[in-house]
Amino acid sequence: MNTYDRYQISFKRGQGSWLEDFDGNKYLDFASGIAVNILGHNHQRLNNALKERIDGLWHISNLYKIPEQEELSKRLCNISFADKAFFCNSGAEAVEGAIKVARRYHFSKGNKKRNDIITFEGSFHGRTLGTLAASANNKHIEGFGPMPEGFVSIPFGDHELLKNNISSSTAAILVEPIQGEGGIRVIPEECLRGIRVLCDENDILMVVDEVQSGLYRTGRAFAYEWSNITPDIMALAKGLGGGFPIGAVLSTKGVAEGMSSGSHGSTFGGNPLACSIANEVLKIFEDEKISENITDKSNKLVSGLEKLIKRHKNKIKDVRGKGLMLGIECYIENSILTEKSLEAGLLLVNAGENVVRIMPPLNITEEDIDEFFLRFNNALESLEN
Ligand SMILES: *Cc1c(COP(=O)(O)O)cnc(C)c1O
Repeated sequence: MNTYDRYQISFKRGQGSWLEDFDGNKYLDFASGIAVNILGHNHQRLNNALKERIDGLWHISNLYKIPEQEELSKRLCNISFADKAFFCNSGAEAVEGAIKVARRYHFSKGNKKRNDIITFEGSFHGRTLGTLAASANNKHIEGFGPMPEGFVSIPFGDHELLKNNISSSTAAILVEPIQGEGGIRVIPEECLRGIRVLCDENDILMVVDEVQSGLYRTGRAFAYEWSNITPDIMALAKGLGGGFPIGAVLSTKGVAEGMSSGSHGSTFGGNPLACSIANEVLKIFEDEKISENITDKSNKLVSGLEKLIKRHKNKIKDVRGKGLMLGIECYIENSILTEKSLEAGLLLVNAGENVVRIMPPLNITEEDIDEFFLRFNNALESLEN
C-alpha cells in the first residue's frame, strides 16, 4: 500500500554508523532506522547472537516457560523502576498494553469508572486505533474513526489545566518524556515531577511512553530518570532489539496485580529469538559501557551544531533535546534540509514543528561525529540563502 512516502534509495550493506547504497555511495546514518539501530549496523556481537540462535529455538508459545524471556525481564527490571514485564512486538502494542495495565489496575481495585487517560498534544503513541486515540493527531486519525473513547488530550506545561482535567474517572496520565515525532519537545523536568505529584495525590497512574527516548538514547537508561521520579508503567520498543522487532510493557508489582492470568497476551510476544537478541543488546551496553560516553558525545554534537547555527542563521534556528535524541529547529522547510542532507550523504529524520531529528547510533565514534559536521554543513551550504 502507498502508506509511506519513500526516498528513492535502497541500501545494500551497513557497518557501524554507515550505510552503503547499491552504487557504492556511503551515507552517515543519523536516523538509525528511527532510533532502532541503537548499536549501528552489522554489530558483530549482535550478529553472533543471531547466528547462535538460528540453530536453537525461534518460537515457543507463552503456554510454556521461556528462560530467555525471564532473563530479559530481569535485565529490564534491574535497570528500571519496574518489577514486572510483558513482551510484545512493537511500540504501538507496548503503549496499547500500558493503557490496558493502567485501566485494569483500577478495575481490579473495584474502581470500574476510572478509565480515562490524559495525554498531551503533540504526542505520538502509535498507529493502532487505541494509540491513535491517545495521540489525538488529527492528520493521523482522518478517515479511521470512530476512535476508541476514554482519552483527553491537553497541551503540556500548563499545570493548572492538567489539574482541572483530573476527575474521579481519570485512570492515568500518559506522557513521552521527550516527544519524538512531535519534534523533540522535551517535557521540562519540573512538569514530570508535577505529574508524579498529581498522580500520587489522586491515585492516578503515571505512564511513560519511552518507545523512542528509552534504552540510553538520552544518556540515561530511561529519560524519566532525569527528573528523579519513577513512573508506574512504561512502554518500550524501538531500540530494544537493536533492529529486531520487540516491545515491552513494564510496571511495578502492585500495578501489575490487575493483569491476572488470561487478561492479556501476544502470540509472538517475548519469543526466544526476539528475547535472546534483546538480552544481547543489553549485555553489550553493560560490557562496553556505551552509556558512559553518550553525554560527552551529545555535548560535542550540540556545541558543533551551535556553531553551524551561527554560520547558517537564516536557515536553522535552534538545537534541542537530550543525549543523542536531538532536534534542529529550522527556518527553511525541514523536509528540504533532510533531502539536501541525503544528497550530501547524511541520513536524518523529519519531525513535527519543522524539526530535523539527529539520532545517531549510541555507539557512534568521535570521528563519525566530525564527519557529520562536514556533511551537514555541506547540506546547509547547498541550500540557497
Ligand atoms: C515509534 C513510537 C511509537 C510506535 O511504535 P511502533 O513500533 O511504530 O508501533 C510509540 N510511541 C513513541 C514515543 C514512538 O516514538
